[in-house]
Amino acid sequence: MSGIQDFILDDEDRWFRAEVRAFLMRELEPRAFAIESDDSWDAVKAVVRSLGEAGYLALMFQDLYRGWLRNPGLTHATILSEEAAAINYAFETTIGTALSCAYPLHRYATPEIRERYLGEIINGKAVGAIGVTEPTAGSDTSRLQTRIVYDETSQEWVINGLKRYISNASVADVYIMYGVTDPDAAAGKGLSAVVVPAGTPGLSFPRRYTFMGRRGCVVGEVEMTNVRVPRDHLLGEPGQGTRIMVSMFNFERAILGGSGLGVARAAFKIAQDHAQTREAFGQKLGSKQLIWSTIAEMSWRIDAAELLTYRAAKLYDAGITGKDLAKPAAMAKLVSTETAVYCADKAVQILGGDGITKEYGRAEQLYRDARALPIVGGTSEMARYLIASSDLPTLKPNL
Ligand SMILES: Cc1cc2nc3c(=O)[nH]c(=O)nc-3n(C[C@H](O)[C@H](O)[C@H](O)COP(=O)(O)OP(=O)(O)OC[C@H]3O[C@@H](n4cnc5c(N)ncnc54)[C@H](O)[C@@H]3O)c2cc1C
Repeated sequence: MSGIQDFILDDEDRWFRAEVRAFLMRELEPRAFAIESDDSWDAVKAVVRSLGEAGYLALMFQDLYRGWLRNPGLTHATILSEEAAAINYAFETTIGTALSCAYPLHRYATPEIRERYLGEIINGKAVGAIGVTEPTAGSDTSRLQTRIVYDETSQEWVINGLKRYISNASVADVYIMYGVTDPDAAAGKGLSAVVVPAGTPGLSFPRRYTFMGRRGCVVGEVEMTNVRVPRDHLLGEPGQGTRIMVSMFNFERAILGGSGLGVARAAFKIAQDHAQTREAFGQKLGSKQLIWSTIAEMSWRIDAAELLTYRAAKLYDAGITGKDLAKPAAMAKLVSTETAVYCADKAVQILGGDGITKEYGRAEQLYRDARALPIVGGTSEMARYLIASSDLPTLKPNL
């Protein structure tokens, strides 16, 4: 990438992009076919392992990072996400999940718990999962039903609840589960986050979902029936769950901005190539005004998504967090993921029949994969609420 396209990035960021692209072309690209056509979790896991061994899962944690970047951070994790999603979005989802799991461990776990679980996730040996969503609580996380109760006698936390749409359900080694520790607390004050290692008695996986896209990912339900974990497995203090969740969502949204961008760029490239080579009515397809206009529309949307995504990442790296990051992160996620859907749709249309077959490239896969992006990590509607809440500070949104 060169020129003004990535002008928010500096030279070091660009070198990093070149390095990571070469790495992913070596490690991910040869496995992308197996991930998609065989729904192969083993192929996904092999790449997670090599990503961890190369140190790329430590980018967000300066004290653990051992590479050459002087200031590793969210910008680089977002570049990684963009480059991976351009090759295979299903695989990329494991990067976001690994970081969302590692982040609360790094920031809120006791040194012993951190030592026990974080290192393995960062070096790619272990896979993490995050459990927020439940049958009656999706966007509305205030409706979580999972209960986390402290047992004074055994000095353990006892967890009961059902989570759904959990990425890496059943294949993860460690789960960060959100639930209610104080049902009487004011809104947002009674939630907590707890670490549950795989294999804990009472942990089960009743269902694995079949999605229209994202093949290779394992997403399912996680049921907890009298699951017991030691006292030190609670992250931070009881009642800090909402704070942990919000800080996780903020950086996750920049990373999702990167995912959307990767998918959008891959779709754009397919459309661009086709428009310049396919002939119709005596001319190249791209010369036709309607196609010309669609290419322009895809192009400006991608640039807008890129600017917003890397603005959010750079703000985070400059120390902007919490409420101040909420709007830029929501904008990055909203614009980038909607751009991915737009570009994947237009790429299919520009390709015509070739766009909806598996025989002529990846357009149909991108179209199926992209559709999850405006839903995961907070929907487009929720992003709009976050943006307008910041713009209309005297009003309460009617959610
Ligand atoms: C592939 C995949 C992977 C996922 N991975 C994870 C994971 O690892 N961990 C996890 O915890 N969750 C995960 N999720 C869950 C995801 O975060 C939720 O699907 C998402 O937050 C939306 O919740 P919901 O599906 O229950 O939809 P709902 O909240 O029921 O919303 C349905 C629709 O209504 C809209 N809506 C809701 N409220 C309002 C309102 N007030 N005004 C206007 N519109 C509204 C929403 O935007 C949406 O379009 C995953 C989901 C998918 C599809």
